[in-house]
Amino acid sequence: MKLIPVAEPVLTGRELKYVKECFDTNWISSLGGFILEFEKQFSSYCGTDYGITTSNGTTALHLALHTLGIGRDDEVLVPNLTFIAPANAVAYCGAKPILVDIEPDTWNIDPNKIESKITSKTKAIIPVHLFGHPCDMDSILKIARKYNLLVIEDCAEAHGSLYKNRKVGSFGTISCFSFYGNKIITTGEGGICLTNDPVLAKKLNFLKDHCMDSNKRYWHPEVGFNYRITNIQAAIGLGQLEQIDYFLQRKRENAKLYSSLLQNCTKIVLPVEKDYARHSYWMYSILLDESLEVGRIMEKMRELGVDSRPFFHPISTLPPFRSHNKFEVSERIARQGLTLPSGTNLSAEQIGYICRILKEIVEPD
Ligand SMILES: *Cc1c(COP(=O)(O)O)cnc(C)c1O
Repeated sequence: MKLIPVAEPVLTGRELKYVKECFDTNWISSLGGFILEFEKQFSSYCGTDYGITTSNGTTALHLALHTLGIGRDDEVLVPNLTFIAPANAVAYCGAKPILVDIEPDTWNIDPNKIESKITSKTKAIIPVHLFGHPCDMDSILKIARKYNLLVIEDCAEAHGSLYKNRKVGSFGTISCFSFYGNKIITTGEGGICLTNDPVLAKKLNFLKDHCMDSNKRYWHPEVGFNYRITNIQAAIGLGQLEQIDYFLQRKRENAKLYSSLLQNCTKIVLPVEKDYARHSYWMYSILLDESLEVGRIMEKMRELGVDSRPFFHPISTLPPFRSHNKFEVSERIARQGLTLPSGTNLSAEQIGYICRILKEIVEPD
């Protein structure tokens, strides 16, 4: 039996046409017109001046941190519930991720818990817009200004999400996105850094391309990286970007249907959308009652043809970053969280089926 997947790319726009142009012109590596066009269009979609593509979302984060001078013994504030990438990127710089607990409703970094973690070594905050719900940016930016901290937004799950009617990715000094296969738009693998600062844009481009002097070939004044994307990937990205509003509309329709079908189930807590937010619903994620074991529920759904995902483990429980501090909220939410199929091509019938079996499993009677 084929499972209903949690997510799958939908490549039914002009992706293949643009990819064929790469083949026809022989521009298949990291030079070529699609890269600049994709950078221009994606940054303009998010409302920033510059976009600098990277090989993936994790290298975008590392490049951003390195460009901003994050280095040995610096401290960077990271939410305790997130995909591992931002914590790893901090570690690549020789810096230390300092974990902050999350809000119980949005599951994003809790601004009320940030200040107590700030020390003389703190240099930056990485808010992650988890599953597509924007972070409380006003509160985060206020703290950042007060303590002179950089803000690097991790928007890997939140392409097109709005905070107070403004796109995420336009708030950070640098903002990072991923275009991995399950993200809202994909390039296969890929990422991008956005900024409004021309000096930072230039530095990001320099660092991602081996720090080669633009006037003196093979002269490298600093240790650089190869974090380039290919023209083929950018071609896919451009085809995807043309459909982003449709993808977001589909995600929101799916979320609305899920929430209406699950709303009177007492064993399930639905995702929230704050007044300030327009959620992208990259993933439709719920919390199960404490009496239920998420792993068991997933197993039973799988037997009935439905794939699902647990939440991320709290970073504080992972071997490289283990902490003995208590993170009550993220520990509980990580344990009880469940992500349901969230693909843009999911049908109303499939959502109906998923909700029906889920309710039967969690409330048998
Ligand atoms: C997907 C993701 C990334 C980076 O992803 P790559 O797989 O490196 O492209 C970073 N942060 C978050 C929160 C993510 O979900």
